[in-house]
Amino acid sequence: MKRFFTATTMTALLFALCALAMASSGGPGLSADEALGKLKEGNMRYVAAASVAPHQDAARRHETTAGGQHPFATILSCADSRVPLEIVFDQGVGDIFAVRVAGNVAAVDEIGTMEYGAEHLGVPLIVVLGHTKCGAVTAVVKNEPVTENIGKLVSPIVPAVKSVKSRFASSDLEELINKSIEANIWQAISDIYAKSPLLKQMAAAGKVKVVGALYDIDSGEVHWFGEHPSVATLLGK
Ligand SMILES: [Zn+2]
Repeated sequence: MKRFFTATTMTALLFALCALAMASSGGPGLSADEALGKLKEGNMRYVAAASVAPHQDAARRHETTAGGQHPFATILSCADSRVPLEIVFDQGVGDIFAVRVAGNVAAVDEIGTMEYGAEHLGVPLIVVLGHTKCGAVTAVVKNEPVTENIGKLVSPIVPAVKSVKSRFASSDLEELINKSIEANIWQAISDIYAKSPLLKQMAAAGKVKVVGALYDIDSGEVHWFGEHPSVATLLGK
């Protein structure tokens, strides 16, 4: 037990040191993989209860006011209150270009926002982050009655759910929901490429990378899926 505690403490210290080292080097100029590494490390600190909560002081506010914002990652995630991005990835002011909407769908407003992040802010990485127990996906799987506005909002989730239901007809409800949450992540990525000539072209040119990930709201862990399995086809390569 004592040895475990010591190892955990050492790991936490290492994470803290890495975060301090990175705090001064954030912003533009990072590659997509370097940006991904920062998110992975931040989430590991969060899960290990070793968050350093960087970039949350007055100096950072002044710096980003005077120098503008240079976020290193765009994250399309659900509006769910259990998915607070800056906490989950242990980041702060000016770090994450956040696009949050029920069911992390990629429709016109979300795609326009992501285009702004990529083209005007030079953000090299887009993460489509689904999460466990997603109410929006669950509503579509259960075909729950919704208002007209919510129906329009969740309509991009429908193809993913239909595909899962036809492929896994014998699965129970919980399995259908979990598979649909994952399928909806891939759906959003393919929608980004299909509906945004700009992001498709930037991805094909290696200027932006789009990856999928799933956040476990209970463990706090982010499971990284990488790029879409059919990324080459989607980019017309
Ligand atoms: Zn959700």
